[in-house]
This record gives sequence, structure tokens and C-alpha cells, in this order.
Amino acid sequence: MSQISLTFPDGNKRDYARGVTPAEVAQSIAPSLGKAAISASVDGRHWDLQWPIEADAAIAIHTMKDDAQALELIRHDFAHVMARAVQKLWPEVKVTIGPVVENGWYYDFDRDEPFTPEDLGLIEKEMKAIINERDPVRTEVWDRARAIDHYVRKNEPFKVELIEAIPGDEPLRMYWHGHWQDLCRGPHLQHTGQLPADAFKLMSVAGAYWRGDHRNKQLQRIYGVAFKNRDDLKAYLTMLEEAAKRDHRKLGREMELFHLQEEAPGMVFWHPNGWTIYRALEDYMRRRLRKAGYKEIRTPQVVDRILWEKSGHWEAYRENMFIVEVDEEGAKEKRINALKPMNCPCHVQVYNQGLKSYRDLPLRLAEFGSCHRYESSGSMHGLMRVRGFTQDDAHIFCTEDQIEQECADFIGLLSSIYRDLGFAKFDVKLSTRPEVRVGSDAVWDKAEAALENAVRKVTNDFEIDPGEGAFYGPKLDFKLTDAIGREWQCGTFQADFNLPVRLGAEYVGEDGAKHRPVMLHRAILGSFERFIGILIENYAGRMPFWLAPRQIVVASIVSDADDYVAEVVARLTAAELRAEADTRNEKINYKVREHSVGKVPVILAIGMKEVEERSVSIRRLGETRTETRALADAVAAFAAEAAPPDLR
Ligand SMILES: [Zn+2]
Ligand SMILES: [Zn+2]
Repeated sequence: MSQISLTFPDGNKRDYARGVTPAEVAQSIAPSLGKAAISASVDGRHWDLQWPIEADAAIAIHTMKDDAQALELIRHDFAHVMARAVQKLWPEVKVTIGPVVENGWYYDFDRDEPFTPEDLGLIEKEMKAIINERDPVRTEVWDRARAIDHYVRKNEPFKVELIEAIPGDEPLRMYWHGHWQDLCRGPHLQHTGQLPADAFKLMSVAGAYWRGDHRNKQLQRIYGVAFKNRDDLKAYLTMLEEAAKRDHRKLGREMELFHLQEEAPGMVFWHPNGWTIYRALEDYMRRRLRKAGYKEIRTPQVVDRILWEKSGHWEAYRENMFIVEVDEEGAKEKRINALKPMNCPCHVQVYNQGLKSYRDLPLRLAEFGSCHRYESSGSMHGLMRVRGFTQDDAHIFCTEDQIEQECADFIGLLSSIYRDLGFAKFDVKLSTRPEVRVGSDAVWDKAEAALENAVRKVTNDFEIDPGEGAFYGPKLDFKLTDAIGREWQCGTFQADFNLPVRLGAEYVGEDGAKHRPVMLHRAILGSFERFIGILIENYAGRMPFWLAPRQIVVASIVSDADDYVAEVVARLTAAELRAEADTRNEKINYKVREHSVGKVPVILAIGMKEVEERSVSIRRLGETRTETRALADAVAAFAAEAAPPDLR
């Protein structure tokens, strides 16, 4: 009997009989591990406890403590258990596919009648019964013909089609959860009792075409979510509720910030209130960039395809670009332009004007660059995913030796801006050289080290994603965490050895010879549109005072106070506060309610007492108590409060 050698995560090696399963390996280490094991990694591949290992390998045994593997298995097993429950309840239903997705899984079923919310309740109940049965999970490898024959006899046409679409005649893996069987790559848990009966929920039913093709039959997709325990499920459901309340599309309507319409999908119509937020944020960013040594530029939006061919975008990015064809006078054929999908090539054009020397570097060119990218209609989502957007873009042209300092300065600027905007926590990920790339290994070594050293100046707690850099250079991604724990990737810092070569950027070095600058692409917000969406949801519409579109509403209690209301508004406006009068003939409580829905941070209620005392009665959003102050004091205090964080 031949032996194989398995290497454990601690470096220890042990010999086993060829064909040993991870279940046997775990048992051989300790019976307690044998019991706790849920799966293994064999040479990095997620491996079922029942699959034999045929050659020397690195092995790690997983238990429920390993989140990634545990959640994948739990969600995957739930998909099978749900399908089994559905066919138990409605034996005529045909099964198709059921993959794991973020936070859960779905399964597509063919059933004539739609599933109702009551049906979902029945399915959940049946799933709990299956978990209670603690049915063993079993797997076998079948040849193709047997698998097809099996599904033909069972009248499962979708499964037959799936198998027939798999190229070659590789054997297929089957899984049983108790008596219920499904075609599946695995791996799976060991018995249905390992599923947490109190940590899953069926969420919704949606239509989905077989194989995603609208010419095919429409199926019913049931979505479920699952976690390791009840608390995690509860936290997730609470987060969803909270996110729905904060939905920026809903708040955008209530606060009259913006709208979208069919004639310009994915392009924002900003209303006065929304544009006020935008401009306050833009002004703030402009000041921060200027102080950090950036020079602002503005480049064209409509650019001839010739430049996009040179930059490589025409070849690699064409299907995401909006094309503009023009009948130019005197020309025989149409001139083909594209709306810029990114600003980089235009920035190189600005750099290329006039000879640059090493003394000009680093040169930091910033643009609030208006870009357009074609996104499929299904992928668009309010402000979060749009077709027309404005990046807080900049490109730093520098020498290889300057990358580290520029990167460190950038991270400093980014963290200060995130803090100012209310995000104390962010994560950093460094993506390193992919297999296919431009530039020598020496340049990559230098650039990766520069980025890593710069990050380490701020934190040692960062993730490295090997091989995930762009072909033209390593990059950093910055993800911030919002008030309800969601992560948003916003900032980026990317070294580029390619575009300066393609577009002929040069500088004269100290040695008098010509050199290529490195180009650093960087953004902090990402796009203004999406970032404002994130801000709205983070603050649930209650923007910080300096960003609030309508900062103060001055509301009359009686019409005799109208003249004084106008005077108060004039005083506030003169102090550059965004103030409005509300002298409608309505009850003050009605006005307060309405402006609370509009998320106005301060309401000044003005009755005859305030008129006589020349005071204002201050009511803050979400508070019931009021505070009375002399008008002049109040104006000065609000003006100080409205200062943006960088001007305080
Ligand atoms: Zn499966
Ligand atoms: Zn760029």
C-alpha cells in the first residue's frame, strides 16, 4: 500500500495511506477534531471531508471557527436543504441550480404557480424539520451517461440540460442530503444537523430566466440568507432594516436632492438642495487639494478616438464608452469621438505641453473630471452606480524615488478627509504584480515596496492581495466603514508604468538625459455622486451642519411675526448661512414636522415673544426641547458652527 505525505499548517508532516480522507486525517489527530471538522483545504482547494487525497499535499482541517469555509458550507448546504424541502412540499416542482451568493444563497425552481410569502414560511418549517433529522450527507462520483439517465427517469429536464452542457465526459459528482440527491461539485457538511436551524431566513422570490437568457423559460428564484448563529442573523436583518430607512433614493426624494429619469439613465438631475451638498463638498475638496500641493486643471469631455487608440482604451474599454460621431465640414467621413470614461490620457496631454525637467516633479494635476461610462441598465442603482459621474481625480507625475513619499502624503490626506467627513475607520488593501504585466521586476520591486512602506507608516493592519494589481502597476484600495457597518471602496492609489510610455511623457533628469516619469492615479472620494450617496446613507440624511443644504428654517408662529422672520433670514443669509423663511399660515408643529422630514438641522420658531425680545427660539432636528437666544448671538454661533472642518 502506497503512502502519501501530508503537510499541516504548522509545518509538521505525517504519512497516510493513499486515498485517505480528511475525515480520517482529523480523526487520527484527535477524536475531538474528528467531530468538530467540517471540511479541509488541500493544496489550497476547499475539500470535502469525504473526498480521498491521492497525492502528497498541504492540508488544513477546518472547523466552524473558520468563518469563510463555515459560511460557504452552511449557505451551500442550505441551498440543497431548501430544494429538498420544496420538492417534499410540491413534488412536481423542477429543480435547476442553487449557488452561494453574498450572505446566503438562491435556488431557481420551475413551478407554474408563484411562490407566496406563506409558501416561504412552509418551506422554512420543512427545512427545520430536515435539519432536525440530522440526515447524513453522502457523495459519489458517477459517469455522465448514468447521471443523464438518472435525471431523464426522474423527469428533471433542467439537470439533463446542465449535464449535457458540461464539455468533455468527465465524471460528475452527486450529493445526497438524506434521500434527496443533487448534482453538485461540493464540498458539503457531514449531516444536515450541522446547519444552524435558527440562523437562516428565506428573504424573497424573484423571476429569473433559465441560464440568464430572456428567451428561456422564466423560473422562480428563492433567496435565503444564513449565518453561523442567531445573533449574526439578527444583526444582519437589523442592518437591512436600517439600510432601508437610510436608502439615499428615498431620502433624496424627501429632501428634494436629485432625481433620475428614463431619458438619461444613470445621469443625475441635481436639484438645488442636492447641488448645494455637492458644491459644499467640492469646495472643501478643492481647498484640501490646493493645500496639499495639487494644481487644478480642466480637460475636454469629447475627445477623438485617436487619443483613445493611443492610450489603449479603444481596444480594452470600447464597449463602456459613449461614442459621439460628428459630420465635420469638409471631411469625407464622420469624425468619431468618445466621451471620456476617465481623465488620465487628457492629463498626460497637459503634462506633455512644454519640456519637463526633474525640478518640475512631482507634478500633481487634479481635476474634478466629468466622466461617462456605459453601465448595463440592470447594474445601475441611484447615485451609487451611474453612467455619468465626476471623479475627484488627480495624477501625480514623479520619479520612481518619489513614489513612497507621494504615497505617504496621499494616505495622510485621505485619512484626514475621511475623518472630516465622518468616517474614522477605513481599511487598506495592497494589490501586487499580476502574471501578465508591463515593466521590469526591478521597477515592480521598487514600486511595491514604496506602497507598502507608505502604508506601514500609518498602519500595520492591511491586507495584501497577491497578483491582483493592474498590468501596469501595483495599487492600494481604501475601503471606509459607514455608521451601520457597511464597507464602501472609495479611495485608490495606483502606480502606472505604462501610460507615460504609451503617450510619450518624459522629463529631463539631473543627468541631462530623458526619462519616463511614473504616473500615479489617485482618488479619495471616488466619484462625487456615489460619495454623496454614501454620505446621505451614513448620516441617514442628517448631514453635518456645514453640508446641510438647508441649514436653518425660520418659521413664524403668528403672521404678525412675518416682518421679523424676514429680518432674521436676512441676518443669517448675510452671515453666509443657508436660511429660509416659512411664513405659511400653518401650525408651528406642522411646520416642524415637515422640515424634520426634510432633515433641516435647525428650526427657529418665531412668535410675538421673540419679536419683542429680538430673540430666536432654537429647535434642533430630533430634539423636542428649545433654547432661546438673542438674535445676534445666535447668528454668530450658527456662522461658527457652519464652518467646514478644514476652516475651523
Ligand atoms: Zn451542493
Ligand atoms: Zn488616472
